Amino acid sequence: CGIFGYLNYLVKRDRRFIADILINGLHRLEYRGYDSSGIAFDGDSINSNNSDERTCMVVRQKGKVEELEHAVKSLENVDWNGEYSVHVGIAHTRWATHGEPNAVNSHPQRSDEQNQFVCVHNGIITNYKDIKQYLTNKGYKFESETDTEVVIKLVKYLYDKHKNEHITFQKLIEMACSQLEGAFALLFKSIHYPGELCATRRGSPMVIGVKCADQLGANHIPVMFSKDLRGVFSPPLMITDQTTADLAVTGNNRSIEYFFASDASAIIEHTNQVIFMEDDDLAVVRNGALTIHRTQHEVSGQSTIREIIE
Ligand code: GLU
Repeated sequence: CGIFGYLNYLVKRDRRFIADILINGLHRLEYRGYDSSGIAFDGDSINSNNSDERTCMVVRQKGKVEELEHAVKSLENVDWNGEYSVHVGIAHTRWATHGEPNAVNSHPQRSDEQNQFVCVHNGIITNYKDIKQYLTNKGYKFESETDTEVVIKLVKYLYDKHKNEHITFQKLIEMACSQLEGAFALLFKSIHYPGELCATRRGSPMVIGVKCADQLGANHIPVMFSKDLRGVFSPPLMITDQTTADLAVTGNNRSIEYFFASDASAIIEHTNQVIFMEDDDLAVVRNGALTIHRTQHEVSGQSTIREIIE
C-alpha cells in the first residue's frame, strides 16, 4: 500500500544510513494501512564487474514496520559501516489483495532465489493469471500467491530472452509494462543494472524527490532533458521522452539523491523539490541522471514535460 525508494549517486552513504532512510520512509507511509513490509538493498559486491558476484539483500516481514526494522538489524554478516557512493534501495508496506499476509507474499517480490530482479508494487495486476500461465508453461516457478510476482518474473523472462542484445533496463521495463493490465505503481532494481532504478505508474500514485547535494544549491539540479538540451536548468525543469542515454550529468560529477514514494509526505523531510509522475510515465535513473519516458506508444513521439515543483 506504500512504496519508498532511495538512490544516491556520488554521495557517500553507509549502509546503516541507507537502511534507516528506507525504514523511516516506510514509517511515514504507515498511516495508509498495511499488513506486512519489506526492503531490498545492495550487497557488498554490487560494484563488482562480474554480475555473478553482485548481490541484492531482501528482507520481508509480516506485521509492523518495527518488526521489519528488528529483522534488518539482526541480519548476520552485514557490514553496516560499509560505504557506497552509488546505491539503490526499495521498500514497501503491503495491503494484501492477492495472497495472505506472510513473508513470502510480502514485497519486494523477486525474480529468482538470487534476487536478480526485485520490485515493489502498489495496486492490482488484473491479467496476472494469464501471464502466470504463460510463464509457467515456459518453466518458471512461482513462490508467492501474489499478482506482483508475475511482473518481476516477466522482467526476468524478457531479460533472459534479450540479454545478448545488451538491452537497457529502461527498455526491459517498458516491454514488461506493455503486457500489464490493471492499476500499479512499481519500482524496480536489478543486480544486472547496478546504480539504476526504474519507476512507473498507472492509476496508483508516485512522487519523485530530487535532492542535489551540490554546492550550487537546489536551483541547479542536474536533471537532463531533450536530446538537444543539455546542461543545468533552473526550475521549472523540463523532462522529455526524447532523452538520450548518454547524459551529461556524469561528466559534471555532481552528487545527487532521489527519493521515490507513493506520497510526498514520505519525501518532504529530505527535499522540497518534487516531480509528480503521471500515468504511463516511466522514470529511469541511470548514471545519476533522471529521465522520464512515455510507455504508451501512441504518444511516444511527443515530448513529455514534467516540472520539478516546490
Ligand atoms: N496486489 C499486491 C499484493 O497483494 C500489492 C498490494 C498493495 O498495494 O500493497 O501483493
